[in-house]
Amino acid sequence: MIGLFSALYMQRSGLKVVICEKGRIAGEQSSRNWGWIRQHGRDFAELPIMMEATRLWEQVDQETNGRIGFKREGLCYIASSEKKLAKRAKWLEIAKECQLDTRLLSKAELDKLIDKSARGKGSHDWVGQLIRQ
Ligand SMILES: Cc1cc2nc3c(=O)[nH]c(=O)nc-3n(C[C@H](O)[C@H](O)[C@H](O)COP(=O)(O)OP(=O)(O)OC[C@H]3O[C@@H](n4cnc5c(N)ncnc54)[C@H](O)[C@@H]3O)c2cc1C
Repeated sequence: MIGLFSALYMQRSGLKVVICEKGRIAGEQSSRNWGWIRQHGRDFAELPIMMEATRLWEQVDQETNGRIGFKREGLCYIASSEKKLAKRAKWLEIAKECQLDTRLLSKAELDKLIDKSARGKGSHDWVGQLIRQ
């Protein structure tokens, strides 16, 4: 993906570009990833880059009539104790500064999101945090 996008933006800036690919286009790491474009939990210095990347993914999806299948589903980080949650919640200050709509979920809200039957044996009584991307 990185080579292809570099080529795309170089071409848009007026350069002539040739792509030399030994195998299938986007067939290596880029074909195997989980597909997360994560803003949540990022360092303050890195977050603006991720926000811009998210905007560009959305744009390229529109340009290709949704053919890349980009979706904003949100991301939920769950914590197994109030102490761990408090540690995670510190990141909310960064989210607020960057105007992301991350917020803490109440336990009741989290329970609605997580199917209890899907929780493994010995799983925790989760408290949580959510980002909508
Ligand atoms: C299991 C997994 C999960 C991941 N999950 C995420 C995620 O959720 N979110 C995220 O942001 N990142 C994730 N990543 C990382 C992400 O996929 C990679 O960082 C990204 O795809 C790398 O892109 P790339 O273009 O640099 O590499 P690649 O997609 O590997 O592209 C390199 C290309 O170079 C070609 N090439 C290599 N040598 C030559 C040669 N000599 N001549 C010609 N062509 C050559 C290869 O064939 C390949 O097509 C994940 C990675 C893996 C493996």
